[in-house]
Amino acid sequence: MRRVTDRRADFCSYTACRITTRNALVVLEDLRIQAMTATASGTADRPGRNVRQKTGLNRAILDKCWFKLEMALLNAARRTGSRIVLVNPAYTSQTCNRCGHVDAKSRKSQAVFECTACGHRDHADVNAAKDQRDAGLAFSACGDFGIGRSVKQEPVGRVTGRTP
Ligand SMILES: [Zn+2]
Repeated sequence: MRRVTDRRADFCSYTACRITTRNALVVLEDLRIQAMTATASGTADRPGRNVRQKTGLNRAILDKCWFKLEMALLNAARRTGSRIVLVNPAYTSQTCNRCGHVDAKSRKSQAVFECTACGHRDHADVNAAKDQRDAGLAFSACGDFGIGRSVKQEPVGRVTGRTP
């Protein structure tokens, strides 16, 4: 157990170092929002769907030390001057990266995204990652929150600064 923990810490600092050395801006999905809001237990319009799947996903993410990686990135960013931006992942799984159309039906399966408006096809995770990258870039271009600080994008374009 101890060895696993050490190995994960090594992996996190090594990965964080590599990422921040090569990138001035690092955009991360703010998983606290997903973990703490009712995505697993369901929302009003999609009550309780994929509960087991989400629970497993959250566990897997936690197991991979996402938060440790985030902390390691913030640490490494102090040295490199990279900016770390956390974006709210809400609706990124349903938003077309090409035309911006939002539709739950565009998410054909766990892996496949196909826009119901423009027909754009991509791996669902890649499409969502591009949405998050664009949100992070837009946020980053709109204000200076200092170097190495973690900033968070709120829904509907509202933003708040947050120190690590
Ligand atoms: Zn589209």
